[in-house]
Formats: sequence, structure tokens, C-alpha cells
Amino acid sequence: MITVDEAISIVLERVEPLGSESVALADAHGRVLAEPVVADIALPPFDRARMDGYAVRSSDVARAPATLRVIGEIAAGATFDGEIAAGEAIKIFTGAPVPRGADAVQKVEVTKSDGHSVVIEEAVKPGQFITPRASEVAAGETVSEQGREIGPAEMAVLASFGYSQVRAGVRPRVAVMSTGSELIDVSEKPVGAQIRNSNSYTIASYARRAGAVADLLGTIEDTPEATRRALLEAGQSADIVITSGGVSMGDYDLVKAALAEIGAETFFDKVMIRPGKPIVFARRDKTYFFGLPGNPVSTSVTFNVFVRPAIRKMQGDLSPLLTVARAELVHAIKDSSSRRSYLPGNLFIKDGRAMVEALRWGGSSDLVAFMKANALIIVGEQAHEIAEGEIVETLIL
Ligand code: AMP
Ligand code: MG
Repeated sequence: MITVDEAISIVLERVEPLGSESVALADAHGRVLAEPVVADIALPPFDRARMDGYAVRSSDVARAPATLRVIGEIAAGATFDGEIAAGEAIKIFTGAPVPRGADAVQKVEVTKSDGHSVVIEEAVKPGQFITPRASEVAAGETVSEQGREIGPAEMAVLASFGYSQVRAGVRPRVAVMSTGSELIDVSEKPVGAQIRNSNSYTIASYARRAGAVADLLGTIEDTPEATRRALLEAGQSADIVITSGGVSMGDYDLVKAALAEIGAETFFDKVMIRPGKPIVFARRDKTYFFGLPGNPVSTSVTFNVFVRPAIRKMQGDLSPLLTVARAELVHAIKDSSSRRSYLPGNLFIKDGRAMVEALRWGGSSDLVAFMKANALIIVGEQAHEIAEGEIVETLIL
């Protein structure tokens, strides 16, 4: 059986970015940047006042108080064509360009003016309250490489450099379906051995959060014929087909066989992970298939460890894995498994230290307990007991 790291490597080796498309900036939130961002202008584009006050020549106000003649004003958006001479000042507002001749700004709070002249009550130093032209970014500078997610801060940068359209990684189309004759729709009330299909919703939600366009295709009866047909159909228009259930060793676990029968190539079907040992990764033509185990927590864990990186890489994300955070373990953990475990945990900061607590849970079917998890605590293949206070690695969900 292969290790988790080997399986992740196989996924990342097989899956390629889907390419890029042009997106309006307003629609670019959450997309992956597919081009470097180059500054078309300097920032700031001019020497900029940092305070409301008076633009002055510092040599005039080396000692205070100093009385200067006010020759005009410059609001944000305005410019002043002239140059200020010795003994002169200009009223200026935050964000406005500092006029030629001036080399400092004094804030309005330490001035007194009657409109014609101003008394500067505190001396200034050259450069005071001025952000010099190009001190943040020079024109032509590359300010971001491709492969990063476009969030609020990236929006500001793209907007400032005129990217009304931006190239973004194409979002993978993900088809989601659940196998199991026991499954019923959420709108129905289970009787007997029936179970409401929750996995399809979880998977679609995770897939969308990872940037995919997800389509819920419903449930599949546990028959070889229905399983084959559903996989074939789903594969027609999807980049990735994700199924839940039907991948263990039972008589009704039909996904592996169905994938082989429709001519898919299977790259792995078991990984040393807990929860979730049976997990299938396959390809037919250009479509990738992930067969996730049916127990809801196993489904969530295997999605985050194996499927999410594929969805992110397809969009061109250069760091497609979930962020690892190191934290101090609140209570000792015992883990008899020789597989690598991912335990639901609550990660928090206390007194400036990252701490993580393993949640009490009833096993891999306990989807209500899993709702409280914001991280997965990683317990290595060799580790069987981790003491309270030890540092562990966690995946931030
Ligand atoms: P399986 O991997 O098909 O053997 O499924 C394992 C268990 O997961 C089943 O006994 C179900 O209780 C549960 N399960 C399977 N599919 C789903 C689903 N779509 N939603 C919720 N629970 C499921
Ligand atoms: Mg099943």
C-alpha cells in the first residue's frame, strides 16, 4: 500500500493546469492568477502629502514659529502648476501632489491661518509627511508572479495597475455523485436502513471552496450496470468526477470494477491513511476520477488531502496543498494505527501560542462532531502516542 505522500505526488504528477481565460476584475475574486502582475505606473505616481496641512520649504521652517504667505490650495485630485518660493506655503490635503519647490508638509493641527498667511508652530524636517514618488513601486516592476489566489489585497493591486481584465486559471468542472442503494434524498425521511445523502453536498461545497464549478448528479444504485453508466455519463463533460462510497471490500463496492470496465486507468486504490484507506484515483481520456470512501468524515478527509490539491493545480495554483500549521497539543493522543491519521481538531490561539485539541468524535461516521473541526491533526505512520504539550502539524481546513 502506498503512503499519503506518495499518493499526493501521484495526483500532482498526473494533473495539469487547464489553461487560462480572461476575467473581468469584478468577477476575479477567488480565482488563481495566471499572469504576472506588472506595475504600469509608479506608486505613488507623484510626491504625495500624508497629512492635511501646509506644503512648505523646510528651510523656511527650520525654526518655529515661522509665518508664511499662503498662495493657494491643492485638494486630492488637483495639481498646482507653479512652484512655491521662499516665504510661501500652500494649503494641501491628504493624497494631493506636493507642489514643486516644497519639500515638507506640516500638519494643520500645529498651524494657525487667517487664509492669507499661516503661522507654522512646529519646525519641519526635509521630507516630512511626504511619501516620495515611486517609493512603493517603480513603473515596470513585477509585483506578483502567477499562481497566487486573487483575494481582497490582490484586487487592490490589480485595480491600481489597470487590470480591468485579468487572466485567471480555468475552473475545473467537477461532477459529484454518491453511490449506495441505502441513500435517499434530503427531502425524504429515512425509514429502515435508509440514509440521507449528505456526502454529495459536502463534496460539492469543498469543491466550490477550492474554486471548481461543481455539479450534483445525485445518487447511484449499487448495481454494476448503474455504476458503469453513471461514471461514463459523468465523465462526458467533467474534468473531475468525484464519487462517494462503494470503494471498500464489500460485495456492493462496485466503483473500482466499474472504472476498470469503462476503460479507466487506475493509479491507486488504497492509501495508508486513516480515516479513509480505500480511495481510488483513476483517469479515462481527459477526465480524472476520485472514488472517495462513503463514511462522511473519511469523505471529507480524503477530499482535502487528495482531491483539493488536484482542483487547485488544475487552476494553476503553485501551492495546491492545504496550509500546515504547527501547534501545541492540548491533550495527549493515542493512535494505534500504522497508517497516517488525520484527526479532527480545534486549532486556536491562546496567550499568543497556537494550540490544538483533538475533538471527541464517534469515528468516521460522526459528521456532527466533524462540523466543529477547523483543522486536521496529523499523526505520523510511526507515532502511536503524542504527549500533551508536544508540537504537532495540522492542516487548516
Ligand atoms: P461505503 O463506503 O459505500 O461502504 O459506505 C460507508 C458508509 O458511509 C455507509 O454505511 C453509509 O452509512 C455512509 N454513506 C455512504 N454514502 C453516503 C452518503 N452519500 N451520505 C452519507 N453517508 C453515506
Ligand atoms: Mg456503499
